[in-house]
Amino acid sequence: MSTQRITYATMAADPNLHVEFDAAIERVKGTLGKTYPMYIGGDAVTASGQFEDRSPIDTRILLGLFQQGGREHVQQAIAAARAAAPSWGSTPWQERVRLLKTLCEVIRKHQYDLSALMIYEVGKNRLECLGDVVETADLIEYYCDEFTRNNGYLKPMETLGPNEHNYSVLRPFGVFAVISPFNFPFALAGGPAGAAMVAGNTVVFKPASDTALMGVKFAEMCMEAGLPKGVFNFVTGPGRTAGQELIDNPGIDGIVFTGSMEVGMKLLKDNGGRKIPRPVIIEMGGKNPAIITSRADLEKASDGVYRSAFGAQGQKCSACSRVYVSRDVRQKFVDLLVEKTKTIKVGNPLEKDVWMGPVVNEGALRTYEDAIARARKDGGKILTGGNRITTEPFDRGYFVEPALIDGLPKDHPLFKEELFVPITVLTDVLSLDEGIELANDTEYGLTAGIFSEDEQEIETFFNRIEAGVTYANRRSGATTGAWPGINPFGGWKASGATGRGTGGPWYVQQFMREQSRVRIK
Ligand code: NAD
Repeated sequence: MSTQRITYATMAADPNLHVEFDAAIERVKGTLGKTYPMYIGGDAVTASGQFEDRSPIDTRILLGLFQQGGREHVQQAIAAARAAAPSWGSTPWQERVRLLKTLCEVIRKHQYDLSALMIYEVGKNRLECLGDVVETADLIEYYCDEFTRNNGYLKPMETLGPNEHNYSVLRPFGVFAVISPFNFPFALAGGPAGAAMVAGNTVVFKPASDTALMGVKFAEMCMEAGLPKGVFNFVTGPGRTAGQELIDNPGIDGIVFTGSMEVGMKLLKDNGGRKIPRPVIIEMGGKNPAIITSRADLEKASDGVYRSAFGAQGQKCSACSRVYVSRDVRQKFVDLLVEKTKTIKVGNPLEKDVWMGPVVNEGALRTYEDAIARARKDGGKILTGGNRITTEPFDRGYFVEPALIDGLPKDHPLFKEELFVPITVLTDVLSLDEGIELANDTEYGLTAGIFSEDEQEIETFFNRIEAGVTYANRRSGATTGAWPGINPFGGWKASGATGRGTGGPWYVQQFMREQSRVRIK
């Protein structure tokens, strides 16, 4: 077994890791194409219709058939979660921590097979998929450890008299809905679900339909770990019906959602109409800038930008999709960035030396082609990329070239809209001030990066940039790559609703409410 720790900042893999991957890919190949149920209250449940989950690498590969769950299935899952909630919520927190740590071990035990399946389903490369799986276990473990460090969130308070004993205790809300996006189908399902469960809530989880396979695999891990029946319930179905029921149903006591601003803001609005308030923990999109000043090390900057712009095909909420480069160093930086982008190997991500796989579906392909056409129409210059790859065998999947666009007006919509495909726009600036102003001129505020060898410039950037996750001189990723317990990850402005990052010290408390206890003895 490879001993290398894989995070999103890993630049090169230990060769043993590829031996593990080769074996895992062979193992999982034979398991593709099964029919999967939903899991409600520990029972396998089917619906009258199913939907297909196919690989973006080659759409002839059927990954699985999943249940087209409707509102009634979600209602059933909520009832199961409600039935399990009192007993799970009153289970000693040490026991919940023990069970969730078992879940981490189970995930780590299956990490290569899970990652191999994720390559098929999402099209990310080997390291990205392994990072996603390992992060899931690390997120859950971090929340467990926070519980332990905080003594289960039971805190003695001051007293006003000799016989008085006062406590603050954080207690679960009841049932949480967990709604996850396609791009980190394990970490953004397991992380939030793990936090909800260690805090004593039960969960109804619905994955994105593009990544139902990773969703059911997480449910299988929960069963293998021995979580009590009804604590984790898994439903599949369309967002607008099954997903919407999770929002509309009064049996849901809290929602944790990661996904687009469009859907996230709708959930916040729908939630606002309720009679009884409930927490909505919402993480949304980004349009993440990198600023390259005249004092930057351009080798570092160009490495950091291309890795963040095109890692996972630009389908990271933290992807570097805008670059503001000082006019003084513009030409040299652009030359380096274009040269490095051209060396990116696009291809079948099951292969070990492929760095960029396909985008996730036909919709993403259309977004890519539309954005390139808009850029061309509005006078943009495509420095590299811009085409769908249609040569065999890529014509059966959704492969595109990484694209860099220059020459658009600084207020062009492509500097503001989240595209979520491998396209990055760049322009020049006259000063750091102008770079920061333009970087902040968007509704989003997720991640941002700077490259400068000047401490004062870096300090100015940290103080003035409107983003929840910030990086200076990060060669392994200008704007991407956070890790639990190391870099809390959460957005400002329209990128997140809570101001508290995942994998950070203020996250798990959001899944609980405070009870103040006064006892006179
Ligand atoms: P999406 O918003 O289309 O879907 C997210 C989830 O919401 C899916 O499970 C979908 O089925 C569900 N959904 C859709 N409509 C719904 C409704 N009406 N009611 C309830 N659920 C509904 O996002 P996506 O395309 O899967 O993921 C990409 C987006 O996620 C990007 O915007 C990206 O920036 C964002 N993202 C953010 C973070 C973060 O931490 N801030 C991390 C990863 C991805």
